[in-house]
Amino acid sequence: MAKKDTSDFREHLSNVNVKTGRRVWIYPKIIRGLFYKYREWFSAALLMGLFAGPWIHVNGHPLMLFNVIDRQFIILGIPFFPQDFYILALGLLSFIVFIMLFTSIFGRLWCGWACPQTVFMELVFRRIENWIEGSATQQKKLDEGPLNAEKIRKKVLKHGLFWVISFLIANTFLAYIIGSKALVKIITEPVSQNLGGFISIVVFTSVFYLVFARLREIVCVIICPYGRLQGVLLDRNSVVVAYDHQRGEPRGKMVKSQVDAGKGDCVDCGLCIDVCPTGIDIRNGTQLECIACTACIDACDSVMDKINRPPGLIRYASEAQIADKKTFSYTARMKAYTVFFILLFGVFATLLALRKDLQASVMRSPGTTFMRQPDGQVVNFFQLKLTNKTFDPMKVEVEMEGLKGNLQLVEEKLEVAGGEHKSTGVIVRMSQGDIKQNSNPFKLIIKSDGEVVNTVKLVFNGPVFD
Ligand code: SF4
Ligand code: SF4
Repeated sequence: MAKKDTSDFREHLSNVNVKTGRRVWIYPKIIRGLFYKYREWFSAALLMGLFAGPWIHVNGHPLMLFNVIDRQFIILGIPFFPQDFYILALGLLSFIVFIMLFTSIFGRLWCGWACPQTVFMELVFRRIENWIEGSATQQKKLDEGPLNAEKIRKKVLKHGLFWVISFLIANTFLAYIIGSKALVKIITEPVSQNLGGFISIVVFTSVFYLVFARLREIVCVIICPYGRLQGVLLDRNSVVVAYDHQRGEPRGKMVKSQVDAGKGDCVDCGLCIDVCPTGIDIRNGTQLECIACTACIDACDSVMDKINRPPGLIRYASEAQIADKKTFSYTARMKAYTVFFILLFGVFATLLALRKDLQASVMRSPGTTFMRQPDGQVVNFFQLKLTNKTFDPMKVEVEMEGLKGNLQLVEEKLEVAGGEHKSTGVIVRMSQGDIKQNSNPFKLIIKSDGEVVNTVKLVFNGPVFD
């Protein structure tokens, strides 16, 4: 492959032809070095977890569920209901701050190692492509060559497999949203009975196919919002995949002794560019397109090995470590993110720990104050709202404290099913003779299976006659 000129890297994206404005298809070489091997193992574990996730159930309920349609969420077996959204929002906020902290320290480590886009693209789809169409050079030749039987066979096989894998990903994705039981129903029942689910699978499959067969690095370079944030999250103390310009420059073609010739260790072979899935030259410095996939580290280490130089010309390091020869420093910015994260996460964890299994609230029935009955009793009406935040049904009892009167529930036997939100009436009666003031404070004690779950302060209103 001809060596790529990247000196105009500031003027255009690596995958755009500056003259025509058209996309340049990237054919990255696969290099099987130490980091690639680690990533293979790590990706295999992640993929197993991802595909197995929706099928893992605890006490008959999914371990993870993100049902945005019915607003039902289960995270690590803990159910969350719409009433808990403030806790979820806080959890999400803590997670965002954690990402900011993590990125400011380790750069795009997530992108290179754990992002599903990179894992699927580099460790699944790219490998299938290599297996069917051959090396990067052979792939380019095939694309530029005439349409013959071999090209048709290879393209049909490759895209057929891409569709199958996209279909599997789409099903898994849907199972995380609607649950694996609902997914099985969609698959096993006639299409006409689950038209919405069937359409979702077709749409998701097409989107995933488009992402991995066509969009590829565009997702990381242009679409992904996390990628766009790098400019503000990274600084010269962030550890990123970096080229050691102190050691590598001045670069030049290999001569018998680089050192004697006054040259750095970079032999300008261009292999680090050839393996880059976003087509950049890491020797130009940290760039937004770099997804920290470590391919250039493996590539350069293989070159260093051949020329008997130590590995690590490209490695995980910060600009401060390379330019100023400093060790890693935990900067004020990182400390501020850490404090902010601990605070937010602390509030989130406390709210989660204090969350009651049965949420109860009582309000006076709208538009009512009190009612006098012919037998001389005075009545107040209240609305009791209950949410069962567990998967199991709960029996609820309501008692009264601090008022000389009696209490009656509209529903005699009050039971709230798992996940149910229920509203019922509460009637409180007092004899006229017992009412000594207009406002009579009292407490409503709500119990579930004999345990007090909530105590609500209320006021009984009534007339006073001298
Ligand atoms: S792979 Fe290493 S030696 Fe080759 S061009 Fe890149 S940095 Fe230089
Ligand atoms: S520069 Fe290196 S680490 Fe960054 S995307 Fe390219 S190959 Fe991966």
